[in-house]
Amino acid sequence: MKIYNTMTRKKEEFVPIRENKVGIYVCGPTVYDYIHIGNARPMIVFDTLRRYLLYKGYDVNYVSNFTDVDDKIIRRALEEGVASAEISERYIEEVKKDMAALNVMEATTHPKATEEIPDMIAMIETLIEKGHAYEVNGTVYFRTRSFKDYGKLSKKNIDDLESGHRDEKHQMKVSGEEEKEDFLDFVLWKPKKEGEPSWQSPWGEGRPGWHLECSVMSKKYIGDIIDIHAGGEDLIFPHHENEIAQSEAANETEFARYWMHNGFLKIDGEKMSKSLGNFFTIRDIGKKYPLQVIRFFMLSAHYRSPLNFSDTLVESAKSSLERILTAMGRLQDALNSAEDKELTEEEKGFLSKFKDYVTRYENAMEDDLNTADAISVIFEMVKQANANISSENAKAVVLEVYNTIGKFCDILGIITKVEKEILDSDIEALIEERQAARKAKNFARADEIRDTLAAQGIILEDTREGVKWKRA
Ligand code: AMP
Ligand code: ZN
Repeated sequence: MKIYNTMTRKKEEFVPIRENKVGIYVCGPTVYDYIHIGNARPMIVFDTLRRYLLYKGYDVNYVSNFTDVDDKIIRRALEEGVASAEISERYIEEVKKDMAALNVMEATTHPKATEEIPDMIAMIETLIEKGHAYEVNGTVYFRTRSFKDYGKLSKKNIDDLESGHRDEKHQMKVSGEEEKEDFLDFVLWKPKKEGEPSWQSPWGEGRPGWHLECSVMSKKYIGDIIDIHAGGEDLIFPHHENEIAQSEAANETEFARYWMHNGFLKIDGEKMSKSLGNFFTIRDIGKKYPLQVIRFFMLSAHYRSPLNFSDTLVESAKSSLERILTAMGRLQDALNSAEDKELTEEEKGFLSKFKDYVTRYENAMEDDLNTADAISVIFEMVKQANANISSENAKAVVLEVYNTIGKFCDILGIITKVEKEILDSDIEALIEERQAARKAKNFARADEIRDTLAAQGIILEDTREGVKWKRA
């Protein structure tokens, strides 16, 4: 598979560090509110990457953090008059609900910054020992100039950064950091302020800086070198640049092999912002559209392109998705009534041609996760299925077409299986069969039937007058 690596600004063949294993780290959200639709883009895109790598047979270790200590969380806690942990725990639960509704798989590990403090302290100590960090009055700073490769990801030159801030003394004063050795130095540990959550450390009570958490959590849950590091393009500088500086200075090895960054989501061509009033949470959008439509919409563009969100575009994604779902529903019906029979020559020819779509779909995904092209291949398959496949065909043919389209949608995280409501007459027939099984002392079968019905929300009640049932 080819991946566009932000580090080299080129598409490169993906080669894992450990055979058949992939370690992916995706910078996760700061949990102080519901996530917005922009935050959902990296979640959906990199979940799709994970699903495709799983399809290819890799063992994927997917790590995505929750930033649960941060100024925004503290501010919100003060506004509500509650503890900061109450805010972060509340929104972690809400983010998880949104992710599940977007069919984003749970990460292998979802570390929380507040649970990794000892390892963060250990990394800061290593950086101080190696001369890459220093403490002043309870604050620990990273000595940016001590890391020779600083700027290699964002292609920023240290001297340019410096000249862009000629009034550095003033800047340092504004941010309350005038004790720094150099304007470019950034915070690894900050001292406690009244009312803020804090932890004991060799530099007094305080809390870690944001950049540090990702360096520490990726090391702990993946290793010193990670295969793919991902996030939105706004994170390239300074967040990812600072992560590289911390990790490579501390571990003395390369930090990440491939850097993937998604483009930004805009609303009606404008930047999303609360003050412009064009700021939407996933929760609100979910009231207007099924979230599967939002997922499909996001994947209908290449992940590195900017994506414009508008009702017209989402409506059009909705009707495209419906076309796929209708075809899958039809194939499912055809499958139920198609017969097991020999394939005709025509059917054999059809299937062999249909295999070309598999290659084309895979080629699209292999080309830096081109989901837009992969979706157009699915449309061609749907068109072929609509024109050629019915219950008249041999079951094997219908099954092959149904399974292939279903699998390709599943890689995109699109659910195509239509759960049909079980009919009253079917329920009654099963209850009768259960009674007969019980009479014949075949309790295993009787229980199996009860479980099958329960799985579909049908509850049985054994009464004196016989078995009664209701839908849960
Ligand atoms: P944050 O909570 O702001 O750190 O954002 C969490 C993730 O969402 C990061 O990977 C950001 O780059 C990404 N992100 C934030 N806003 C947008 C947007 N409008 N479009 C795409 N990605 C975004
Ligand atoms: Zn990060």
